Amino acid sequence: MKLEDDTRDRQSLEEELRQTQRKLAFYETVLDELSIPVFVKDADSRFCFFNKAYEDFFGVRREDLLGRTVLELDYLSPEERARYHEEDTACIGSVNAKHYSTAFECPHGIRQTLYWTRGIRVPATDEVGRIGAIVDISKEWRLKLRLGEKLRELRKAKDELQRLSRTDALTGLANRRPFEEMLEQCVAMAQRYGYPFAMLMLDLDHFKQVNDRFGHAEGDRVLQQCANVLRSSRRSEDLPARLGGEEFVLLLPGSDLDGARQLAEMIRLATRERVFLPDGSEMTVSIGVVEYREGESSEDFVQRADEALYQAKRTGRDRVCG
Ligand code: GH3
Ligand code: MG
Ligand code: MG
Repeated sequence: MKLEDDTRDRQSLEEELRQTQRKLAFYETVLDELSIPVFVKDADSRFCFFNKAYEDFFGVRREDLLGRTVLELDYLSPEERARYHEEDTACIGSVNAKHYSTAFECPHGIRQTLYWTRGIRVPATDEVGRIGAIVDISKEWRLKLRLGEKLRELRKAKDELQRLSRTDALTGLANRRPFEEMLEQCVAMAQRYGYPFAMLMLDLDHFKQVNDRFGHAEGDRVLQQCANVLRSSRRSEDLPARLGGEEFVLLLPGSDLDGARQLAEMIRLATRERVFLPDGSEMTVSIGVVEYREGESSEDFVQRADEALYQAKRTGRDRVCG
């Protein structure tokens, strides 16, 4: 009877062992089939399992590593070993998960990865350890870098386009758009705070003859020289702009009529002194000057500048009116 019992016990124990081994083999195969590297460490931070993907990723073999701690892994740099050893120690006994992005030097180059890890505790046995999984995101990382580069290029191109859309190509001065925007701001500041501003409207005298006598290219060069005169006469807050043809404006925030007249006179003289035609003759300019009047619309203000300029033309050119 006793012998029969012993034999039955042994048979059922053997059967239990076979089942446990089958289960173990099954789960190891499942983990081996995973395409992401997975490892498990025991309470002493020694590798007790890692899957096939881990072997391939780091170019290592199970028989060389099982039972070892991270400090013995020569495929990691000394800093990485120290870091992961510290992490091992902190993780064991805690079930908190950690994940971060990190790079590994692998046999097939540096791989950018998402690294996930957490401590494990087996409730039935109170055994503790740690599990980790590594997702290779090198491809996505490179794409992200390339995307960042492209975005920067796009932003630069957009800034350049915006700059070009606000710039006169021939002279490099502002074109009508920034002029109109700043004029509206000046009008708003004047209406809200009584902040004064003035403007010069300039038109080259007999410019058509320059083109007719010396050609269009020479006309362009004269326009560029006039732009240079305006540029060098401005204060930092002033806005010189080319509105089209041979018509320019200089918007003067904070200026009154007297200040604007003095500046206009300076520009008129500078044009005679600094802008020359191929035959040595001088170029002259007529200038209308206006100061903003309370309650006036921007259109009326520009209209008055036009009239002042027309008066300068009508009364003999090469003069400042307004
Ligand atoms: P006024 O003294 O009355 O202003 O006479 P003007 O000849 O300067 O005036 P008008 O408006 O009759 O002629 C302007 C000329 O400017 C006509 C046009 O061919 C020329 N022009 C306009 N834009 C450009 C440009 O970008 N380059 C060159 N070279 N000429 C231009
Ligand atoms: Mg003209
Ligand atoms: Mg004109």
